[in-house]
Amino acid sequence: MLDEYIENLKDTIVSETCNLINIPSVSEETGNLEIPFGEGCKKALDYTLDLGKKLGFRTKNIDNYCGYIEFGEGEKLVGIIGHLDVVPSGDGWNTPPFEATIKDNKIYGRGTIDDKGPVIASLYAMKAACDNLKINSRVRLILGVNEEKSWKCIAHYKKNEEYPTVGFSPDADFPCIYAEKGIATIYIKEAYSNNLPIKIIDIDCKNNAINVVPKYCSVNLELDLEKINLTDCINYINNTINELNFDISYTINENKICLISKGIQAHSAHPNLGKNAISPMLILLNRIYKHFNLNLNILDFFEKNIGTEYNGKSLNIDIQDESGSLTLNVGHFKFNEGFLQIGINLRIPVNTPIASISDTISKICNTYNLETEIGGIQEPLYVPKDNPLVKTLTSIFNNATNSNYEPIAIGGGTYARAFENCVSFGANFPEDTDMCHQANEFVDIDKLVLACKIYAKAIYELGK
Ligand SMILES: [Zn+2]
Repeated sequence: MLDEYIENLKDTIVSETCNLINIPSVSEETGNLEIPFGEGCKKALDYTLDLGKKLGFRTKNIDNYCGYIEFGEGEKLVGIIGHLDVVPSGDGWNTPPFEATIKDNKIYGRGTIDDKGPVIASLYAMKAACDNLKINSRVRLILGVNEEKSWKCIAHYKKNEEYPTVGFSPDADFPCIYAEKGIATIYIKEAYSNNLPIKIIDIDCKNNAINVVPKYCSVNLELDLEKINLTDCINYINNTINELNFDISYTINENKICLISKGIQAHSAHPNLGKNAISPMLILLNRIYKHFNLNLNILDFFEKNIGTEYNGKSLNIDIQDESGSLTLNVGHFKFNEGFLQIGINLRIPVNTPIASISDTISKICNTYNLETEIGGIQEPLYVPKDNPLVKTLTSIFNNATNSNYEPIAIGGGTYARAFENCVSFGANFPEDTDMCHQANEFVDIDKLVLACKIYAKAIYELGK
């Protein structure tokens, strides 16, 4: 009955997912209190709230920071917490990222799996549950539009609105996530005076987000030709690129050399799926300086302590526990107010205090006279595997798919950790490649419909 009802909604789920994909909603922090995260996010939020209203639900826009769609009565509040903002498209797409394209029973477009498709699946799961099942509590779909940046939307929600009693976030993987690693962003800085005979005059990483493995990094160098021999420098660059097998090319314009490093974009929670474009650049720069007996501490530090590693081994922080291994992504390299700055994003196993990792890094940086600054911290989420919420959701998934999966731990951070008694639940299926933040992001249509059925059952069970 319920499954059939949802099966009949398939075309609607697809078309509404497409409609949302067609609204580009990269979160911008505008400083404008009326539209805090830009026009695109406002449009995506209004569109979804409007859709909720058309389905007969109560809706509320909370100052364009976030919003919710709700039905049902009672004390208990079941929360479903998702987001409508997306990461920038990046390139490498075979279809226009902000024009949903249906091909091979999949919808392609930025946000299809993260998190617009799952939000639409959740909304129609609410509709199906409301029309077919007896739900004894209120069910609220909470929608943020600053998830991919700084979570200011959910902070605003928490300041002004009711917390869910129990809930899930459809923003990660099935069967169910019982642990999310801690997240820390750390900036490493060195004052840069630009008086060396090899000057860094420009750095461009195409505004890479810190939680994304960068696929591009270019650096413009200006040489003082009285002190630096151009031919020697070019020969050295060629040899080093070949020796280290780096994907770096260059162009020469009089006394300027523009180096371009290329990589592969991925989510920083699994840097092994991408190829970092910044790390080889920093190593090459360090080698160039050293070749001419010059030194920049930040580059020296970088090559000795990070290099192309993404597990923190040389920093001596390569820890692991049941939630997995520590991962490290170099997401930023730029000038910032007279400083040369490298930004790293760490995913820290749940049993290790974040402060112990940041202290270790600060201490090593101190020995190079480098400053460190914490750019943001999200404490880990850990719910024991035998917690009733985790057990219920995992068994709903296993029953619906006739499988026998155990709950898992991830390095990604979801809104589940914003509230007590919440975990993340779908909508990526086990063993499927995680396409979030990648080029050619897609969602499989049958799996999206199946996710909707699973969410409807979860609403029923949690609403009991
Ligand atoms: Zn997401």
